Amino acid sequence: MTKPVSPMGFETRAVRDGTMRSEFGEHSEALYLTSSFVFDDAEEAARRFQNLEPGMVYSRFTNPSVQMFEQRLASLEEAQDCVAAASGMSAILSVCLGLLKSGDEIVTTGSLFGATIQLFDNFMTKFGVGVKYVDLSRPEEWEAAISPATRLFYLETPSNPLTQVADLQAIGTIARKAGVITVVDNCFCTPAIQQPLRFPIDLVLHSATKYLDGQGRVLGGAVAGPKSLVDQIRAVVRTCGPCLSAFNAWVLHRSMETLALRMRAHSESALALAAWLEQHPSVARVFYPGLASHPQHALAMRQQSSGGAIVSFELKADNEGQAQERAFRLVNAVSLFSRTGNLGDTRSIITHPASTTHGRISEEARARAGIRQSLIRLAVGLETLEDLKADLSQGL
Ligand SMILES: *Cc1c(COP(=O)(O)O)cnc(C)c1O
Repeated sequence: MTKPVSPMGFETRAVRDGTMRSEFGEHSEALYLTSSFVFDDAEEAARRFQNLEPGMVYSRFTNPSVQMFEQRLASLEEAQDCVAAASGMSAILSVCLGLLKSGDEIVTTGSLFGATIQLFDNFMTKFGVGVKYVDLSRPEEWEAAISPATRLFYLETPSNPLTQVADLQAIGTIARKAGVITVVDNCFCTPAIQQPLRFPIDLVLHSATKYLDGQGRVLGGAVAGPKSLVDQIRAVVRTCGPCLSAFNAWVLHRSMETLALRMRAHSESALALAAWLEQHPSVARVFYPGLASHPQHALAMRQQSSGGAIVSFELKADNEGQAQERAFRLVNAVSLFSRTGNLGDTRSIITHPASTTHGRISEEARARAGIRQSLIRLAVGLETLEDLKADLSQGL
């Protein structure tokens, strides 16, 4: 469910919406570092605790800095409501605790952030929640997986690291017909590139740690969507305590002011680098939704305003041994790209998924996921494009 679209543009909402000013009239939003709030009298305290009037109570459930972050993100995702969490993972956990009960089933895909798969497989199953895996890019598999126990469809698009794209219209329509709630982790695109709630999608989820901050400083998470669902998730955050710190909320609130500019620059450089890699004699194949050669390019461009910052590619090699050797040589040769598993930073990052982010899964599971030894993932940052090309050239 989306809010009536505000007449203001995205960039305007990103710098103006969700601002609350104190009696001092500060122009830049204040940081409310306080665990609790005081009441004028016993009656006011009673009303606030019983939710009979709005107002601050205690920072596990109400804090002005956190509310400013939530309101700004809700505005950008065109959502009715939003609840913040301490990290992306705590947002996902809160969705599960808020919406699922023993006996329910999640339908999802193997093309997910690794910790999300572990949360589903190692923890949700302990509480009697079933998990079924289908192919992200085949809506008919999502439809076939539905049983009377299915409660949630959970997905990311484009996927990490192979940039497979999910058809949000098709999958959302299937879910709506079956009364299944859909959750889209929009961490890679951010609302600056893709707004899942414009499709028949119920909830949009964020690891704010990535591009919402965009500068690699703080952890954060959020879930946005209709108030009726967000209320159920907020109840978990309130009671169980995976709440966002006021400091992190304040950092994230300000970061979103440059989100559109940053994502445009990330995407422009990523597209140029992807096109350059595609022509390089040492490169076998490039995965980037913004390239015309991407098998789902047309679908991606219907859902996304640009390709985003993540570019993956396979190096040419005769066998897996040689592939790993060449991939390691490239990762070791760069001096500008940071060697780390993270993404969502102003600084460009290079990762060898088969030995790091996907290193703990079996060889067969990796093969099924299409993660080969020759695969390299780039999270393209905001450095000068020519410097990034020169840096990669050394190792290619
Ligand atoms: C990083 C990430 C998460 C988890 O977020 P944290 O803030 O690290 O807990 C979830 N989903 C995706 C797609 C991510 O990249």
